[in-house]
Amino acid sequence: MENKSIKILLAAPRGFCAGVDRAIEIVKKSIQKYGSPVYVRHEIVHNKHVVESLKKIGAIFVEELDEIKDKSRPVIFSAHGVPKSVPLEASNLNMTYVDATCPLVSKVHREAENINKQGKHILLIGHKNHPEVIGTMGQLPSGSIDLIESTDDAFKYENKSTKNLAYITQTTLSVDDTKDIIEILKSKFPDIYEPKKEDICYATTNRQEAVKKIASQCEMFFVIGSRNSSNSVRLVEVAKKNGSKHAELIHSESIIPLEKIKKCKIIGISSGASAPEVLVKDFINELKKQFTIEIEEVEITKENITFKIPGKLN
Ligand code: SF4
Repeated sequence: MENKSIKILLAAPRGFCAGVDRAIEIVKKSIQKYGSPVYVRHEIVHNKHVVESLKKIGAIFVEELDEIKDKSRPVIFSAHGVPKSVPLEASNLNMTYVDATCPLVSKVHREAENINKQGKHILLIGHKNHPEVIGTMGQLPSGSIDLIESTDDAFKYENKSTKNLAYITQTTLSVDDTKDIIEILKSKFPDIYEPKKEDICYATTNRQEAVKKIASQCEMFFVIGSRNSSNSVRLVEVAKKNGSKHAELIHSESIIPLEKIKKCKIIGISSGASAPEVLVKDFINELKKQFTIEIEEVEITKENITFKIPGKLN
């Protein structure tokens, strides 16, 4: 392949958020405190590289508590949050557990409980079967929350309860798509109760804004992240919607489309909140083997948020 020049616009902020940093730290500190193995219910964050590196130091990943053979070992709940039934089950089994739910997801859980106490019926805007959605719906008795996945769902929704409505959202949605859904809900149900501060988290918002800023200049856009990472998949959509001719996810099994990249002058790169920066570096290093690369980082804001880990691990 000829050594052609390609400019990379590197979106910033990208990659790890405070909730992911904290969740990974919780697994590491738990192994230090309790020894190995430590069980983790569900992928701690949606990234294969992270999961594999934690397996190497003594984490065992399961989907449900009943898969854990040695119940004397501690279990960690993933950053996405869990239904109330999960810590209850762990307590009933006399298991030690550490909750790595991101504090911004826990905020939505508390919000759901408070709204429910006020006697309102809740609409959760989110993606069916995503663990965060399962966790949030599981904060309240079945039937207390209806899921709205799309503008179509919002148009069709009928309030069959006798209660006033309120909405909450998943933390990792597309900011723009969610706005559209909320507008429809507000026009159909003008009295619908809104969260005081929006539920889509700072990290999701910043990563989408950073991609938006550069997408229209990029012939191709690459988002480093796993297929089951909601915020990574949203970044691909945001890049496409905002003018990149082509956008795709680069995950653990991706083959880098070098022949297509060869035809570009400018490409964009970002990474989801669960993707470590080393994967971005690896991707760029692969490109450097084929092309002369110029990198311009375009930073829209600085992030300085950190979350404390649970006191019992100190
Ligand atoms: S993406 Fe947002 S909600 Fe999810 S772990 Fe990161 S900070 Fe928390």
